[in-house]
Amino acid sequence: MRKLGALLKELGVDVRSLAAGDIAVRSPIDGAEIARLKSDTKGSVAKKIARADEAFRAWRLAPAAKRGELVRLFGEELRAHKAALGRLVSIETGKIVQEGLGEVQEMIDICDFAVGLSRQLYGLTIASERPGHRMMETWHPLGVVGVISAFNFPVAVWSWNSALAIVCGDSVVWKPSDKTPLTALACAEIFAKAVKRFGEAPKGLLEVVFGGKEVGEALVDDKRVALVSATGSTRMGREVGPRVQERFGRVLLELGGNNGMIVCPSADLELAVRAITFSAVGTAGQRCTSLRRLIVHEKIYDQLVPRLKKIYGNVAIGNPLDAKTLVGPLIDEGSFKRMQDALAEAKKQGGKVTGGERVKVASCAGGFYVKPAIVELPSQTEVMKEETFAPILYVVKYKDFGKAIQLHNDVPQGLSSCIFTRDVREAEQFTSALGSDCGIANVNIGPSGAEIGGAFGGEKETGGGRESGSDAWKSYMRRATNTINYSDSLPLAQGIKFDVG
Ligand code: NAD
Repeated sequence: MRKLGALLKELGVDVRSLAAGDIAVRSPIDGAEIARLKSDTKGSVAKKIARADEAFRAWRLAPAAKRGELVRLFGEELRAHKAALGRLVSIETGKIVQEGLGEVQEMIDICDFAVGLSRQLYGLTIASERPGHRMMETWHPLGVVGVISAFNFPVAVWSWNSALAIVCGDSVVWKPSDKTPLTALACAEIFAKAVKRFGEAPKGLLEVVFGGKEVGEALVDDKRVALVSATGSTRMGREVGPRVQERFGRVLLELGGNNGMIVCPSADLELAVRAITFSAVGTAGQRCTSLRRLIVHEKIYDQLVPRLKKIYGNVAIGNPLDAKTLVGPLIDEGSFKRMQDALAEAKKQGGKVTGGERVKVASCAGGFYVKPAIVELPSQTEVMKEETFAPILYVVKYKDFGKAIQLHNDVPQGLSSCIFTRDVREAEQFTSALGSDCGIANVNIGPSGAEIGGAFGGEKETGGGRESGSDAWKSYMRRATNTINYSDSLPLAQGIKFDVG
């Protein structure tokens, strides 16, 4: 922690700018204040959007493959700064260094993906019903993309959006969480290095605005921001979504999850136990895809749950910068209180709670470390239907497979899900139209830790957005349908006659 200044310098951040301001940045590791920054004002946000808008007007004209070259250079810079940025992610979010590094690797992966994509922004050619006509689709750059991001994936989610937006010919205005502005500053500096090497990018291609909700709202309400891609709680999405739509802007929402796993009688319990532990306990339960609900067949319940309790009892909780640690702190005291409230509520609803108490970690007195909790419930009660952003794993039994799927889907959120089974019929049913209603449905893999190649996002109160791989790029472009007449006549569609003499 003493070396934070050196780390920031290595990443190119001007540490002199971090001494004063209304945003107090605290490391969840020990709760200590590590920097201060000034929030943007409505006026400064407007100026940054104006710069980004001007940058867009120039950048959209650069050939897509050329735009890809900038992202390729950014990927190179990220490789060079992976260790430092990964460590900063760890300091600012409290996730273990392995996961901090994993987050930066995800940024590198999406850059590689976007570079390839820059040569594949394909449209369709469509058969026309009229003689001498051709139809096609063209994809054009969209405009300024506003990215609002959450504290728990402070850099990867931004890069999923930005790497695609940049190759699609857009500019970006980023509002990081006010809990994690340092990693955003570092990313902006790393991006600036790539821009410098690239040489011809317009100024304002990436702007960063700092602050809380009000600063986010300034982005949400600005007509020049063509797409608002917002990641965070469902509460935030409920505010942001309608506001952007009110001005007919485009919105991409990546909101809360309440992810479940069904463990069937034929499951490989070794694999299941490892997957459960990583996805429920990892990142201290602070992933949008963290496992929160375990639906276990009654026949194997007594083999699985005691085993999990044993592992939970021994998991290494501590300073996330220590290589042996598997579970770091919660982000702050508010998060700890919400966890305790949920556990108290679960007890009232008939839950048997194991773990969940605060853990004191030497030299990290101000940090909120907790024992991950297992809550055995007689049925899926109301508390289990809410996302509590902490390591709480609710467990219920099932008897009938159809009922297990019904239970699985009976929550408002629809992000990630999985099944552990060796029965192909169960696996296929789970991934079929009758099965999981989530945006991500896995077999014999936990719900968290997605690769960048697939589209990422979820249904229902998770917001419906898709980011990252597959054809998620289409959200960052504008589609035009073109009909071209190369004949000497003007036949109308649907055979309509309209003779003007
Ligand atoms: P949060 O909703 O408190 O904040 C997220 C971001 O939205 C922050 O930058 C915040 O300043 C901004 N914001 C909040 N209200 C706003 C408003 N009215 N207008 C504009 N901006 C506003 O979320 P958090 O606590 O930082 O993150 C945890 C939540 O994010 C969890 O619910 C988690 O599931 C979710 N999340 C979802 C995904 C996903 O891809 N689905 C990924 C990561 C996190």
